[in-house]
Amino acid sequence: MAAPNLLSDQRYRNWIRDTLSLLYLKEALVKIVDHDAVKFHQGLQRALGVVGAAPSTCSSCNQNDIIKDFRRHKWWMTCPLCDQWLQQIVQNHAKKPLPNLHRENTDPQLWSTNPYEVFKCYMPYGCQQDQSAKDADSQSILNVLKNCVYFSKCGRIGRLDLVDEVIHSV
Ligand SMILES: [Zn+2]
Repeated sequence: MAAPNLLSDQRYRNWIRDTLSLLYLKEALVKIVDHDAVKFHQGLQRALGVVGAAPSTCSSCNQNDIIKDFRRHKWWMTCPLCDQWLQQIVQNHAKKPLPNLHRENTDPQLWSTNPYEVFKCYMPYGCQQDQSAKDADSQSILNVLKNCVYFSKCGRIGRLDLVDEVIHSV
């Protein structure tokens, strides 16, 4: 019995096109996010007044030290060094006043030295092991574009409603 010719099936061809579209979308998003992670991080360093200085790093905080205070509508940490980074991350989140940060994704000890570790705060749960945008799926990267106001401020994203539409169609 001869094998069916899948390429003659319109649905199969459409499935291949859709799959390739997602791969090309991710390739483009990875370039944008990897490039802009560094620029965004430099902007946070300027805001914190630590440009050009050897980064101060914390060696004691972990994800459990990131506290969401529902009563005061505030994220905070007891460590002043990490808290200043956390406040910058919160200020640059699109959702106000109390954004939904997935603290499980990130390691606060790396915020001052690793730009991508900061971006992981804007991603959905499940990105703990990601080391760069190449490791993330398209939906996680799109969430960074939507949740981090840097992308709308610098003109990278003109219409957030379109990003939202793509997120829900992936
Ligand atoms: Zn700390």
